[in-house]
Amino acid sequence: MKTDSNTLRLNRPDLWDRFTRREEYNNLIRDMHGRFPYWASQDRDIFRPSVSEYLYEQGLIKPEYPDGCEFALCVTHDIDVIYSSPYMKILNGILSVRQGNPKRAVREIGSVCNRKSPFYNFKEILSLEEKFGVKSTWFFQALEPGEPEFRYWLSDVNRVFGDILDAGGEIGLHGGFDAPFNLDRLLIEKSRLEKVLGEKVMGYRSHYLKFQVPETWELLAQAGFSYDSTLGYTDCVGFRSGMCHPYKPMNLNTRKEIDITEFPLHVMDMSLFHRYMRLGFDGAWDLVKGMIDSVCECKGVFVVNWHNTGLLEGSIERKMIEKIIAFSKNQGAWTGSMGQITHSVI
Ligand SMILES: [Zn+2]
Repeated sequence: MKTDSNTLRLNRPDLWDRFTRREEYNNLIRDMHGRFPYWASQDRDIFRPSVSEYLYEQGLIKPEYPDGCEFALCVTHDIDVIYSSPYMKILNGILSVRQGNPKRAVREIGSVCNRKSPFYNFKEILSLEEKFGVKSTWFFQALEPGEPEFRYWLSDVNRVFGDILDAGGEIGLHGGFDAPFNLDRLLIEKSRLEKVLGEKVMGYRSHYLKFQVPETWELLAQAGFSYDSTLGYTDCVGFRSGMCHPYKPMNLNTRKEIDITEFPLHVMDMSLFHRYMRLGFDGAWDLVKGMIDSVCECKGVFVVNWHNTGLLEGSIERKMIEKIIAFSKNQGAWTGSMGQITHSVI
């Protein structure tokens, strides 16, 4: 979506700083994965898309979605793990007991000797999405043994690529350990995925949401990606750049717009519950519902990331994504992939 950045810069320098992520240029704080975390940000009010609201109210962006829809929901999936180790099964069993889900605990622990992985659940996810009429965006790793975070071969997952594409979904790259900071690594992983997929890869998101402003955007543009969807925090949901519309980011060093579209990430399954914000279901829903309402008001694109591991039947994460989709559809959301939005809306 075209944004008039000059008007924003001159009239609302506070929002301009948020939009460009100026504070990340001069702040050396990083967490164990090299990420700029929410806890280090001076910008505490991230539950409303303040920059998008301003641009929309001023008539500086005029989004239109297919079928006369009011706003859009982009459901995305990062695929990190497809095999479940016995250790993981026991751990999930214990977690399920603590979440008050004894049925799932029995299923998890009982499957220790079973070679079938509950995380190879692509067809189940696709049929859930078909039920809601959602076309999703999937980010797969393209790593090989010996490379950090290698967990599966592309040949382990390529048999579901056809199912995803046939369902109207899209496949992007989930960049590995060093990719967000290294052009050669980006090119290697992109070409591996393209070889298996048989077509150009447009979309990208970093594993662990690793991102360096503005360098990662520049590298992604040089590597030939059309869009990124990494810009969100792991330790908190929200609107990191104040945006809920896809946009072309600015490089404050060169003072030039970067030739890539950012779809900022707003809610990730892992952020809400156990590891980070540690919300209960009702508290998480109140927060997420407020975010959806504010995106709807300025006709934005609400982006969520649900891992395949967060889509197991009976889990709190699965219950939440079903509620997010059902509520958004009810509010008039269009639910296409990022590639479809890039083609038809921007
Ligand atoms: Zn990941």
